Amino acid sequence: ATPMSVMVGVGKAAEHGILIRQGEALQTSSKLDTIVLDKTGTITEGKPAVIAILCADGQQENTLLQLAASLENGSEHPLAMAVLREAERRDLTLSEATRFEAINGKGVTAIVNGQRYRLGNQRWLESEGINVSLSSDSLTQKGATPLFLASEGTLLGIIGVADRIKADSREAIARLREAGMKVIMITGDIQASADAIAAEAGVDEVMAEVLPEDKANKVKALQQQGRIVAMVGDGINDAPALAQADVGFAIGTGTDVAIESASITLMGGSLHGVADAMEISSATVRNIK
Ligand code: ADP
Ligand code: MG
Repeated sequence: ATPMSVMVGVGKAAEHGILIRQGEALQTSSKLDTIVLDKTGTITEGKPAVIAILCADGQQENTLLQLAASLENGSEHPLAMAVLREAERRDLTLSEATRFEAINGKGVTAIVNGQRYRLGNQRWLESEGINVSLSSDSLTQKGATPLFLASEGTLLGIIGVADRIKADSREAIARLREAGMKVIMITGDIQASADAIAAEAGVDEVMAEVLPEDKANKVKALQQQGRIVAMVGDGINDAPALAQADVGFAIGTGTDVAIESASITLMGGSLHGVADAMEISSATVRNIK
């Protein structure tokens, strides 16, 4: 690899909104055979919205939403933003929450009006001894994420939050697959919701219910099978996996931590940037030889 041809490739990539921090990443991009894509904010817009509220017996939508928003008030998770925006849209006044805790990959908990509440995924609430008697199937079938709200011991309801896939994700993923890539979607979200989004996006494989700390292990396991792996992500959650991958691509609108952990940043956020980078890489490597 001559430094000159790499420089030309890096410049060409920049014209396409692809910022390459390490010249080596440009050369490795032509050797990739596996692309791991985060779901939320990478395949999808990352701007989820509340689409439905399912109430347990005797509960009311606005009461549940008011509580959920009071719990999420201290969180910066995209799911929290959806809940807070909907509470604001309905002009709900939030209650003070104390002893707030965000539990990575699970949900949030705090004390409101002297009672402990939890908002998060079904598996977590069940592990805390809450009997989940309400079905979230109507939400997960649509690819929405169900957020379960419970007081100490009792399920109060489910808030359904949905995120659209980016307009060009499906096309970009098809392009990657035509280039011979195995395309895998990875997410902390539950299997049913992940499957619905995966079908829409057209990926080869889904890894769902992956805890934040395990995303990097999944990338490592693929590498141990001899695969050359790119990770594409936007979140704090994705940072270790971006660093582990042979090439890490950060979404430019994502968190600073993701951008710092990746060797390439896609300014526009489109997944076409991954295929573009691979093509520029191939051209660069061909010129070298
Ligand atoms: P992703 O990999 O899709 O970015 P995370 O690992 O951040 O997902 O979260 C996994 C799951 O944990 C979410 O789908 C949700 O069920 C639950 N969760 C995480 N953070 C929150 C939160 N602030 N409020 C409610 N639920 C949450
Ligand atoms: Mg994400």
